[in-house]
Amino acid sequence: MKVQIFDTTLRDGEQAPGNTMEPEEKLLIAKNLERIGVDIVEAGFPASSAEDFLGCKLIGENLQKSIVCGLARCNEKDIDSVYNALKNAHNPAIHIFAPTSDLHIEKKLNLDRASVLNLIKKSISHSRRYFKTIYFGLEDAVRSDKDFLCEVIEVISEFKTDCIIFADTIGYSQPEEIGSFVKHFIDKFPKEKFGVHCHNDLGLATANTLSAIKNGVRHVQVTVNGIGERAGNTSLEEIITAIIARKDYYSDVSVAIDTKGIMEISHLVYKTVGREASFEKPIVGVNAFRHEAGIHIDGIMKETKTYELVDPKLFGVKKKFVFGRHSGKQDKLK
Ligand code: MN
Repeated sequence: MKVQIFDTTLRDGEQAPGNTMEPEEKLLIAKNLERIGVDIVEAGFPASSAEDFLGCKLIGENLQKSIVCGLARCNEKDIDSVYNALKNAHNPAIHIFAPTSDLHIEKKLNLDRASVLNLIKKSISHSRRYFKTIYFGLEDAVRSDKDFLCEVIEVISEFKTDCIIFADTIGYSQPEEIGSFVKHFIDKFPKEKFGVHCHNDLGLATANTLSAIKNGVRHVQVTVNGIGERAGNTSLEEIITAIIARKDYYSDVSVAIDTKGIMEISHLVYKTVGREASFEKPIVGVNAFRHEAGIHIDGIMKETKTYELVDPKLFGVKKKFVFGRHSGKQDKLK
């Protein structure tokens, strides 16, 4: 079954310090996301600023194939703002979210569980006036009480939304833990489609997202280069490559992304935020397919698979040999 790719480079990615993008820049990235086959482009949080509203509007009106979605908290003003930004979009959708952990409910919102349930009902009802496609995100889900989450999911499932997303908002989960966490709800609510939204505070966003996929989620929220709040979100390119490189292990799922477009969009996103990939960044870093060690070069010349997980041709790039101190008998190799 296909894993739905929900890209939030232009929302969660963009909202981190140093990542501010102009509406036209966001549109260019969105067009590239559509070109590589991303299912859903989260264009922004229109209630947050006039620029974000304009970015969402531009993207919604220009993309033809991908679903374009805007973020809203559980209030009418945010929901109306997504509607107004996307009312002329070809494939509009809304991503509403509510916190479900007691910590967030009590300390952040000064509310209780019952009022959150009520807010969820009211916001989905209100969104239904405008939107056929609704994604519902559960903020800090992994630190929430499981029984309360069941109550939340029961309420949401009455509205037949398109996906319920468990967020690991602060990068708290461990891979096995999030795997059994999602499985608990997938077993309990077999008709619902579930997704995950992970953060990389412990360098585990990719591992956690893959563990969730292995345990049955079919919607993942990712960003190009893993940009996003604090240590970032799950990297789109890492998830796609893992599923392709280890199709023996992820045999139940597939992805429909044009991998040859990944390098270009990665460079575009880095250029837009004014940075470059670290040398070691999986897939898109300068050293990802570059080799200097003599033993490795020798192995690769005999058989690429000796030292490369995937053939760089998958991304339309060429492997590079860098001859230096570590290359050994350089004359022979040249
Ligand atoms: Mn997030």
